[in-house]
Amino acid sequence: MKIAILSRGKNLYSTKRLKEAGEAMGHEVDIIDTLHCYMDITKSRPAVRYHGKELPTYDAIIPRIGASITFYGTAVVRQFEMTGTFSVNESVAISRSRDKLRSLQLLSRKGIGLPRTGFASKADKADDLIKNVGGAPVVIKLLEGTQGIGVVLADTKKAAESIIEAFMGLNANILVQEFIKEAGGADIRCFVVGGKVVAAMKRQGAEGEFRSNLHRGGSAKLIKLTKDERATAINAAKAMGLGVCGVDILQSKNGPVVMEVNSSPGLEGIEAATKKDVASMIIEYIEKNAKPHSTKTKGKG
Ligand code: ADP
Ligand code: MG
Repeated sequence: MKIAILSRGKNLYSTKRLKEAGEAMGHEVDIIDTLHCYMDITKSRPAVRYHGKELPTYDAIIPRIGASITFYGTAVVRQFEMTGTFSVNESVAISRSRDKLRSLQLLSRKGIGLPRTGFASKADKADDLIKNVGGAPVVIKLLEGTQGIGVVLADTKKAAESIIEAFMGLNANILVQEFIKEAGGADIRCFVVGGKVVAAMKRQGAEGEFRSNLHRGGSAKLIKLTKDERATAINAAKAMGLGVCGVDILQSKNGPVVMEVNSSPGLEGIEAATKKDVASMIIEYIEKNAKPHSTKTKGKG
């Protein structure tokens, strides 16, 4: 098969591993810089152009779209979908996953466990927002933050009100969430490929840090999931419509709750912690599913 990895960096660990795995399994794998793709949308026959030439037809693309280029990146994925190429994650699903509020709303519709979460655009309701999620301490998050930046723990009601007012004063979109203290600064990353959890790790935040992000100095180790945790991850991936994703779960006293679903989950941490060849499992998923014109939305919004 001909597979393209949409990535901004050919030397990134995940990109390199996917290329390696694809080639080892007998496929032709190109790495394409998403921001260098451009499109001729007026043509009756949709195509993607790259460095002055029309790209050949690929059987499948693996979008690795960084959060900072979601808008353009999803447009490129949509264009590939219009040409009939199979995408491991569809453009609409990637867009959904980038908005924390939209994701939580979708997950809540499907009855998936979530931390109690509130959202408002006016700071005069801060009081009620905090009360509704169970009172301080609360976690306050920027809707489009990533790598733990823009996630703040407010210990008291006063602190929470000040932070909410400050963010809203800057016109930032935020959500207010119940603090799952019993998670102890740890979360579980479930790596889902084609409706199955293929690897899972527990990430523990650095000493004195409630955020478990590896980018914030957290460490990771292999974990065996409970039935409930596994089912939660699978249902979350399904609700989001993502073929390949990382579902992040907190262990709360009421069972597993989903914090977020990542549509370009990194391979480095999970492969190191679990010693599993996740890259090859993604290629296997493509081998089983990449048929021309098989994306559901076919480039529609
Ligand atoms: P980001 O997209 O920046 O990674 P997250 O929502 O994943 O933002 O939050 C970052 C980290 O903060 C999580 O990995 C988790 O360890 C911690 N965290 C986030 N929300 C909560 C919460 N409601 N209760 C306890 N810890 C949380
Ligand atoms: Mg996170």
